[in-house]
Amino acid sequence: MTAPAKPRVLFLYTGGTLGMLRRDPGPLAPSHVAEDVLPYVRGLEAEVDVEAELLCNLDSSDIGPGHWTAMATAVARRIPEFTGIVILHGTDTMAWSACALSYMLRGLDRPVVFTGAQRPIAFVRTDARNNLIHAALCATMQVPEVGIYFGRRLYRGNRATKISIQSYEAFESPTFRPLVEMGVAIRHTGNPLPPGESGLRVTGGFESRVVVLQVVPGAGPAILDAAVQTGARGVVIRGFGAGNVPQDLWPGSIRRATEAGVSIVLHSQCLRGVVDLGAYEGGRAAMEAGAVGTGAMTLEAATVKLMWLLGQGMGGGALRDAFRVDVAGEGSAETGETAGERE
Ligand code: ASP
Repeated sequence: MTAPAKPRVLFLYTGGTLGMLRRDPGPLAPSHVAEDVLPYVRGLEAEVDVEAELLCNLDSSDIGPGHWTAMATAVARRIPEFTGIVILHGTDTMAWSACALSYMLRGLDRPVVFTGAQRPIAFVRTDARNNLIHAALCATMQVPEVGIYFGRRLYRGNRATKISIQSYEAFESPTFRPLVEMGVAIRHTGNPLPPGESGLRVTGGFESRVVVLQVVPGAGPAILDAAVQTGARGVVIRGFGAGNVPQDLWPGSIRRATEAGVSIVLHSQCLRGVVDLGAYEGGRAAMEAGAVGTGAMTLEAATVKLMWLLGQGMGGGALRDAFRVDVAGEGSAETGETAGERE
């Protein structure tokens, strides 16, 4: 009798602290450790056959839409050979990249799991081994979506956000239960997306002329006017609470922006809960002026979705309608009644 075939996982390396070295004196910087990651996860081969490919070697602050497209293209090219893919990535913009791939990879039927580390894999007290080994195991599970594995949980990628600079539990999923929790036992705690059935397609590019700005008590909308004047095609406004802006000047400025063809998305300064522009006067006036609310999305999910929809040539009412439709479980269609806060 032949042994059952082992799952096959590809490590797609893009950089980040995980593979960095410190050249004293100086900051952490990308190094050649990237090419030597596999020896640090020795033992994993008992459960999973692992192969590695180097895509780039960057601090993730230097990753942007061009790299998102390169990652999605590499996933589409390599995934037929594997049970799942792990993308090794810096933590700083991991949630942004995970959102981008969740929108681009239509029809995904197996896992794509981002992971990284707070300390390099060559350091004794590293979290990289734990993250990498568990991410690889998650990439063999029935979780056919883009996830982030970090600390001890697998999160839906477009629901996760980096919440800590130093903690080994660097990510949180504020409005959606984690998909898997790794303890002594492995617990499947959330509802994964259904697998795609019609084949994998990489869709769309991204509009980079998008800004995020935050409302400050008492401040007028000059910053929004300036964004429009300097060529922004989309603006994410972080209002207060359920998505409220001061009623005197902001709605007028939002109206002028939308009439000039700029798409305005209204988000919250709160981490948890669901944006509801109908709840208060300040949100309602903004909505009537042309803003669309973000529902239960993270800031990253909302901003990248705006970039992705603009990148497909959408604008105006068509973009607002498309923004409200869930693409990959990001929570845009959720309302206060349907979306639970976590815990
Ligand atoms: N600056 C690093 C990066 O995002 C931080 C990390 O990897 O955790 O690439």
